Amino acid sequence: MRPIKTILGLVLIVAAALGATPPKSMRMYVFDCATLKDRDPATYGLTRQQVESVDMSDPCFLIVHPRGTLLWETGLNDAVYNRPEGGGAKHDKIDKSLKSQLAAVGYQPKDITYLAISHLHGDHSGNANDYAGSTWIAQKADRDYMFSEGLPANIHPDEYAALKNAKTKLITGDYDVFGDGSVMLIFTPGHTPGHQSLLVKLPKTGPVILTGDLYHFPGERTFHTMPDGEKSKQTPASREKLETLVKQTGAQLWIQHDTIGNRKLKKSPAYYE
Ligand SMILES: [Zn+2]
Repeated sequence: MRPIKTILGLVLIVAAALGATPPKSMRMYVFDCATLKDRDPATYGLTRQQVESVDMSDPCFLIVHPRGTLLWETGLNDAVYNRPEGGGAKHDKIDKSLKSQLAAVGYQPKDITYLAISHLHGDHSGNANDYAGSTWIAQKADRDYMFSEGLPANIHPDEYAALKNAKTKLITGDYDVFGDGSVMLIFTPGHTPGHQSLLVKLPKTGPVILTGDLYHFPGERTFHTMPDGEKSKQTPASREKLETLVKQTGAQLWIQHDTIGNRKLKKSPAYYE
């Protein structure tokens, strides 16, 4: 048995080493970071007939660039949701931890150069503590909110507490992650004070915009609806900004929580180039 184990060990080490070696051109991996069950379309101004599924996908993305790696989102918290019965009132569920999905393509948390999340909510920041060794690129408005007093009960500061002392690049507005225009954080506040989206210009796939929670269901884009509480905030202006960017760049717009759209995406270990 021992030689087989040794060979397997060597294969894993080689795979890990290969994965962590920067490729010559960009690639993007899509991970499944949870399923959010049975969400109410009315919360987003939609009827049941205007949505195809009431479940939501909750993906995370790894962008591998010759100059480093960017992890976009960290999903729901493993300790709470990565169990057969799921977690929370709705039994939201993780099938595989983000860490294990990263490891399967050769990346450990220490290999993540930059961490960015669209916003502080638990389905995006759940495993953020695992990546506190990375440089966190944070919108100042969300970071200020994350570490403020009296947060609502549905926010879980313990799940991102380690970011407080992480090496942090504090930004206000759009930001060019690798300095060559290929990966841009796009400031789209409204859902939270410092909400952001991500534009990734892939060499073969072309430009893709990851919306964070600027939209949840595709119906919001078709029927121009949004949560009541966001109408008077910056969400309308942020949507206009992003839709203009879609027109200018010809980007595909991926609504992260759209489970129907998510089903069609190539999942890791496959990747987009
Ligand atoms: Zn969300």
